[in-house]
Amino acid sequence: MSTIRRQDQERKAALSKIQQENGNDYCADCSEQHPKFACIVKGIFLCLECAGVHRSFSTDVSRIKSVNTDVWTDEMLQFMEENGNIKGNATWAKNVPVFYRRPTPTDPHVLKEQWIRAKYERKEFVDGAPEPPYLKGSMRGYLRKKGKDDSSWKVRLFVLSADNNSLSYYIKDQDRTPKFTFNVKEINVTFAQDRTNEDNSLQFTYVKSDGLTRNYFVSSGSGKELIDWYMAIRSAKFCLLGLNGPRADPSKVNAILTRDFTMEGFLQKKGPRDEPWAKRWFTLDGRRLLYFKEPMAPSALGELIIGSRTEGFDLHEGCTRHQELDYCFTLTTPGRDYVVMATTENERKMWMDCLSKVIAQPMTDEDKQG
Ligand SMILES: [Zn+2]
Repeated sequence: MSTIRRQDQERKAALSKIQQENGNDYCADCSEQHPKFACIVKGIFLCLECAGVHRSFSTDVSRIKSVNTDVWTDEMLQFMEENGNIKGNATWAKNVPVFYRRPTPTDPHVLKEQWIRAKYERKEFVDGAPEPPYLKGSMRGYLRKKGKDDSSWKVRLFVLSADNNSLSYYIKDQDRTPKFTFNVKEINVTFAQDRTNEDNSLQFTYVKSDGLTRNYFVSSGSGKELIDWYMAIRSAKFCLLGLNGPRADPSKVNAILTRDFTMEGFLQKKGPRDEPWAKRWFTLDGRRLLYFKEPMAPSALGELIIGSRTEGFDLHEGCTRHQELDYCFTLTTPGRDYVVMATTENERKMWMDCLSKVIAQPMTDEDKQG
């Protein structure tokens, strides 16, 4: 074996050892396991997707090397050993607000990208950083809002005020009265790229006084502005719900501020009188199962709270009338049976797994109030 080749193998072995230490076996930005890249300016290890964002930075902020395929020098190895993910995050993520949502591997790209830009490009979390716009839970700016009954996206002025527990939008800037005001404490915000086909989009959801859900969709040309809005709403809810109090549990904050849907996607559904199959967009949001005529519909065609087995809910593969059909399943409720069909075996399994977990959970008093 040539000396160069042997040296390379030895350095790769040393690099592999460094990766086992100091939190280096997880991506420094999204926590994905076994990252295959490294930033040799910061001395941190990164997954493919996060490394892609770092590559867009200037070389004084970031230089990316592949752990497996690039050539490593002794100086680079020494630098990685002296730094590493734990040390890096102690600097770059030192002052992350408790309400700020840190991305995990399965989160939308816009959340990961803006987290990485916030950490290293805008340096929002280092000592002495200027106050970011979302910190106080008050914001004023423009978002495109999807029309209720048409497919247009129109620019609207949005004003968020944590002090007033309100998020309002105006048709025209000079309007004195908002077109609508959300109760911030009661809205849920989720990323909506799967529904809108827009990378930088959010869905606002709230349950009206009649117990039915209403959806609003907004988007922005700027990933930064979208995430600033998302974090500002979380910041407002954080204060309004008293989560900043001394008895608040930081580990529970994330799920209370914004709730991702457990599962969503198209399924075919049978009507109660065995009408023809209809394609519907289904969303499982906690115990609430909703189906819509199309993904961006403002209101659901139907929604039900999934109870536990004790309340008469059940789930099984297939259906009595359509035994011959693949990927079909039946959800039994006290009122009626819902016959639904997925397009693949895997899709059916994922839906049935999620629904089974809900049915297996006893209902709390809060669940019963809907
Ligand atoms: Zn990552």
